[in-house]
Amino acid sequence: MSDLDFVSGGKPIPVERGEGPYLYTPDGTEYLDAGASYACTPLGHSHPAVVEAVQEQIGELTFVDSSYPVQAREDAYAALVAAAPDGLESAWFCNSGTEANEAALKFARSATGNSRIVAATRSFHGRTMGALAATWKDSYKEPYEPLAGDVEFVPYGDGEELAGAVDDETAAVILEPIQGEGGINVPPEGYLEIARELTEEAGAALVFDEVQTGMGRTGSMWACEGGGVTPDILTTAKGLGNGLPVGALAVSEWVADGAASHNATFSGGPVVSAAVAATVSTIVSEEWPAHAARIGDYLADELESRLGDSVREVRGEGLLVGIEVKRGANRVARDLAMNQQVLALPAGRTVLRLLPPLVIEEPHADQLVEAMAGVLGEVES
Ligand SMILES: *Cc1c(COP(=O)(O)O)cnc(C)c1O
Repeated sequence: MSDLDFVSGGKPIPVERGEGPYLYTPDGTEYLDAGASYACTPLGHSHPAVVEAVQEQIGELTFVDSSYPVQAREDAYAALVAAAPDGLESAWFCNSGTEANEAALKFARSATGNSRIVAATRSFHGRTMGALAATWKDSYKEPYEPLAGDVEFVPYGDGEELAGAVDDETAAVILEPIQGEGGINVPPEGYLEIARELTEEAGAALVFDEVQTGMGRTGSMWACEGGGVTPDILTTAKGLGNGLPVGALAVSEWVADGAASHNATFSGGPVVSAAVAATVSTIVSEEWPAHAARIGDYLADELESRLGDSVREVRGEGLLVGIEVKRGANRVARDLAMNQQVLALPAGRTVLRLLPPLVIEEPHADQLVEAMAGVLGEVES
């Protein structure tokens, strides 16, 4: 395979097996997976608690639709609602992040009776027509227009601009508490509070898209908890089933009361529900968010001191880490993979993104830092 295949997303690494933070090729080469396939395996690859729950469920009952009470589904709801921020007492399961955001935008519209959506520059909310309309990047949108209408963009992190955009015709403000795809952008202190106050005053729904930031990644179960702000709707997916395809949203009472007809055939299927219940309960009971906070601090400190001037900035929260590099992030990711057997992800042109499983320990962090130093050192010399 050529460079071009890799740069455009393909990786010439035939993956056969995964265990914890490592992936293995058929010849036994070990790769440290610091991308976790976009944060989808917070507990590491093939975590025994999740594997066992899924194996048991698929053998017992693979699928019935959500009109039947099934224990696995009820366990998943209970686990998610218990783990959700206080005040978000109703949940609905779907199959992906974009679908969770579609539901969020629909519920915000039906509950408020308004249509206007306020979204942020550099946002990413998914690839279906509604979530895509609230996504910033033109190249994702233009070939598919017209998308869902009535979306206004404001500069991410700017409270004054947000205040100018939110009024009593606003249905929702949708924000990532820390932006992922857009470059690991941490908003200024107080920004989420401002969004909370503005939406409350206007009677609009505040939607936090925690598809990437949730499930303990930033050092608390949800990034909004770190900021002390509870939205009306929280969406999640990616790591929710530790690799099984599932998304969800948790909503406050007024949003639940105002939700109109909506559903999906596979909503809360027994097998993904078993994965969700096992993943969420393991993350909560084993306190992996606190571990992510500790290891995240260690990793950021080590990256900063070891890499020094060879990078522009290290930023993020917990194990959601962005490294602003001085050359193409795609190139750095490729060199890391091919020369250091470390897998990372770009987030835009110049930001390298690390989303390792929450279960990494200091030696894994050290391996990551050494690999980065190796790759960036080659450039300096
Ligand atoms: C990945 C992502 C999505 C889309 O999730 P899919 O499961 O790919 O549809 C939405 N929002 C954020 C913040 C994401 O990182």
